Amino acid sequence: MSLVTSYLQGVGKMAFKNIVKTLPLPVSLPTELRRLRSRISQAELANQIVLMNSLRDSLDQHIAQRFLDRGSEIRILDRERAEDCFNALQKPQDSGGRIHFAPIIWNSADDYARELKSAVTPSHPSQKSVTFIMRVRRPKSAEASAVLQELEQLYAMGRACAQQLPKRSRIVFVIDWNLHNSPSGQVLAASLTGFARSLAKEFGKRGSTVHVLECVNQDSAEDCARVLAFLASPRASFLTSVHWRSESFAKRPEPAEGSLHGRVALITGAARGIGASIAECFAREGATVGINDLPSSEKEASKTLAKLRKMGARVAFFPFDVATVEGARAMSLAVEKEFGRLDILINNAGITRDRTIKRMTPSQWQQAVNVNLGSQIYVTEALIPLFAEQGAIVNLSSVMGLAGNFGQTNYCAAKAGVLGWTKHLQQLLADKQITVNAMAPGFIETRLTRAMPFVNREMAKQLTALLQPGLPVDVAELARFLVSADGQSINGQVVRVDGGMAIGA
Ligand code: NAD
Repeated sequence: MSLVTSYLQGVGKMAFKNIVKTLPLPVSLPTELRRLRSRISQAELANQIVLMNSLRDSLDQHIAQRFLDRGSEIRILDRERAEDCFNALQKPQDSGGRIHFAPIIWNSADDYARELKSAVTPSHPSQKSVTFIMRVRRPKSAEASAVLQELEQLYAMGRACAQQLPKRSRIVFVIDWNLHNSPSGQVLAASLTGFARSLAKEFGKRGSTVHVLECVNQDSAEDCARVLAFLASPRASFLTSVHWRSESFAKRPEPAEGSLHGRVALITGAARGIGASIAECFAREGATVGINDLPSSEKEASKTLAKLRKMGARVAFFPFDVATVEGARAMSLAVEKEFGRLDILINNAGITRDRTIKRMTPSQWQQAVNVNLGSQIYVTEALIPLFAEQGAIVNLSSVMGLAGNFGQTNYCAAKAGVLGWTKHLQQLLADKQITVNAMAPGFIETRLTRAMPFVNREMAKQLTALLQPGLPVDVAELARFLVSADGQSINGQVVRVDGGMAIGA
């Protein structure tokens, strides 16, 4: 038998995944992500094992309480048990949430890995995902050199996680307001950023994600716990390598059913793609939803509206070209007439007109800049008078706006401008407790990206830590988080929703 024949026979016995592995191609296969498309429920964290490396203060307590109330099994992996903190927790009767102390004594990275192995073993077959919440505290000594010992601990924990955590795990490093108060703390905070981003790149292939969450002040402990619950949920599968800053700011209503119940939202460019997905997600969560798009998109818009109506949502279509001041003002009058007020605005309308600057026509420049940046300014200025307190604005930027891209000077100038506009608005609207954030999607499968050449699309996938494109629902779930009570402490930030893309990071 020739070498080729025996090779092919061997190949025939393998699963497709293994076949691809045998090919001499520079292609890695992704892990399929879990996503949810149902209304948010208290029970969705019930099958989680939540590891915490400490339960020692009120921030830890808030975090533990949130997961307990949602039915997770919490395992505290600390050297000593802090009785006060344990006893202060309210053990829920009905959620099924449980908490155990699992003493972890270790002197080396190998010890830690051994101990972690038993800590991640499910106690029930339904437990399929693990979230590891690691508090990183200020080093005991303020001297900058003290950081080296702390980093060694991070290495041990990171290595153990790489060896023991199952696929689709979440790791969140939580730092607090004390960390930056000393030279060693400052160095540690900076090192942690590089460490977490690198872990995100290494763990992405297994569908696992890594974040840093900064609790900016003591008052935001409860808000921090909300952010963690979102990051642990399947709704945040495509988010990784994000540095979150949680700072107590707005206090939004938290309805018992439907996280946006009673809220009025407007989404521009929502006849299809990401905008339509955001509209669906908001309608599912009980919001009244206004959809804007070009008058020429009425047919597509009516399909989206029909879906929303089926969910029982109150909806309206606002057919205006928002890339003009007149269009934005006319829409504002129509929204006032239809809804009377507004709580949420998503500036989503966008287009590409790609060309190198040498060949770009004035019209291509103007169209891209007017739609991607102009519309956001015109629409927001026209709608601000309708805004209620505790509202939220989310502006669509792009990873390309952070990084710049060949052939996209117009698009990138506009999407980078969105970041400046977001900062300005955040300051302007702080008195009304309106949060303003930007989302920077990476590669999301929509008509916009389907127009890309095949090779560019494949390259874009390989550039993400998770080795796959995102779906519109990933951006929609992030938007839902940012505008609801869950994300009320996130303000003035640019959140990448890009699966850990290597570009501009
Ligand atoms: P899409 O082309 O599928 O949808 C964009 C919508 O905007 C369309 O329905 C279009 O008719 C509407 N629109 C365009 N000009 C308009 C105008 N003047 N007035 C009103 N509506 C207008 O695109 P998408 O992929 O869903 O993108 C949505 C947003 O996300 C855009 O701002 C885009 O730049 C941004 N984004 C997308 C990606 C991605 O990978 N898809 C990546 C980064 C950023």
